[in-house]
Amino acid sequence: VSEPQEFSFQAEISQLLHLLAHSLYQSKEIAVRELISNASDALDKMRYVSLTEEAHRDEAPLQIVIEGQKEPRQLVIRDNGVGMTREELVANLGTIAHSGSLEFLKKAVSQNKGDLSLIGQFGVGFYSAFMLADRVRVRTRSFKETEGWEWESDGTGTFRISPAGPLERGTEVILHLKDDVSDFVEESRIRSIVRRYSSFVPHPIRLGDQVINDQKPIWVEPKSQVTEEQYLQFYQHLTHHSNESPLWHLHLAADSPFQFRSILYCPPSNIELLGFGRLEHGVSLCAKRILVQSDCRELLPDYLRFLHGIVDSEDLPLNVSRETLQDNTVIRRIRNTLVKGVLDKLNQMADQAAGGFEEFHRQFGGILREGIPSDPANRERIAKLLRFPSSDSDGAKLTSLDEYIKRAGPDQKPIYYLGGPSLASIKTSPNLEIFRRRGIEVLYLSDPIDEFVMSTMQTFDGRPLTSIDSENVELPEVEAEKKADEEPLVGTTRVLELFKAALGDRVKEVRESKRLTDSPCCLVNADGGMSSQMQRLMKMANQ
Ligand code: ADP
Ligand code: MG
Repeated sequence: VSEPQEFSFQAEISQLLHLLAHSLYQSKEIAVRELISNASDALDKMRYVSLTEEAHRDEAPLQIVIEGQKEPRQLVIRDNGVGMTREELVANLGTIAHSGSLEFLKKAVSQNKGDLSLIGQFGVGFYSAFMLADRVRVRTRSFKETEGWEWESDGTGTFRISPAGPLERGTEVILHLKDDVSDFVEESRIRSIVRRYSSFVPHPIRLGDQVINDQKPIWVEPKSQVTEEQYLQFYQHLTHHSNESPLWHLHLAADSPFQFRSILYCPPSNIELLGFGRLEHGVSLCAKRILVQSDCRELLPDYLRFLHGIVDSEDLPLNVSRETLQDNTVIRRIRNTLVKGVLDKLNQMADQAAGGFEEFHRQFGGILREGIPSDPANRERIAKLLRFPSSDSDGAKLTSLDEYIKRAGPDQKPIYYLGGPSLASIKTSPNLEIFRRRGIEVLYLSDPIDEFVMSTMQTFDGRPLTSIDSENVELPEVEAEKKADEEPLVGTTRVLELFKAALGDRVKEVRESKRLTDSPCCLVNADGGMSSQMQRLMKMANQ
């Protein structure tokens, strides 16, 4: 192809561009961050290629160069990374890789009052260039080819690609700046933006003949050397988020039997709860400081999928491939250490009144409990972190299983619970009457997953977890009741017969019960059967 060729943007991108054209002034700085971040990703990839592929070995220093120009008024961001082929240009700068990104972004923008700074999280950071520019040119040559290509667009419906001859390897993004951002060519302005948003980019960023970023990898430093400010900035670097602080961070180091360093962050809120679908990001995996894979999902179990962070190991070969990650012993052992570290951290937080655990549980408790069925080895540890409403406060406060046991005292073995579609309906269940009367605490499980969690767990701290709507619930014995048990039942035989005749096949049995005080009857489930709420759920799932 030697002629320029015109393409239309995918419809979603045209919409996105429209959204960007009306962005707030404050969000505009992050366009620079996104372009630097792309340059840095391209350098990471090039470093990896040059270390793993003989044919592309290259000693030349990898770097990002920024130039502000007054005449014509433009901002240039250049890297000597992997570059793009023509096909890659069309695919990467013409379509949205992740379907649904635009919807998520729109939601996020409206929830954050027009703030577009989180655009990079949705895999569409490049297009933020159009917040600054009325025309964008991308000149690029892939390391796989000898000739380059130019991509050009004014950010309306189309873009054009033409051959650009023998360019230097890498990518140059040229922004023809809009009138209201003419200050973006000033060195002082560029320097302050880079300091603010890009100080952790692991490659030198040059402005004139100066390197203007720090590049120090804080995760290899001892904890005592890293300031809170640095932890915060690194979080914002990892998440492309400029005004969000994490709920907590965890800095881990191990030296034997295998070496690794890691910093993990818990975000302040759970975007799955806002309807953003399942979180798919992962942790960055580095081998000897070189990024092997961003968003690596093998390093943490699914029930910790909300964490962001980095793991860097000296004991990993650079050429671990995605396919071998799962069976890699080092990865598996790092993962075990990370999980243990995170659960220990959470248990510590839970023990301290001001540790912020409540907020963590509110946001991520629902995801965390998925670990009970999926991670048997850590089941008890995770269970300690779960919180449930209970009859102790009539559902107003949450309790841990340990607190429940403490209140129950030594005579009560089982931990009782009752599931239902809502707290209100659980509270009115006749099954609760005898427990109320006897002052025995019952956990209220209105979240469908909780009953599933309880039935897979079966015991906690050696105590059976018992649903109180099953047939043979055993209550702690009381002297007075023992006597009553021995007294023969009178006067109910006929009533039971009538009930049986009326209900027929719809019930297995009709029995006299001692668990009721106010209600005339209640439904219970046969031993070994599913609880009522579980049956309801199964029914829903089958429909
Ligand atoms: P993301 O970086 O999250 O993938 P972007 O919209 O920022 O989303 O970029 C889209 C894609 O364009 C990148 O994944 C990359 O493949 C390509 N790209 C963008 N900038 C560069 C660059 N400087 N060098 C090489 N490829 C780039
Ligand atoms: Mg990007």
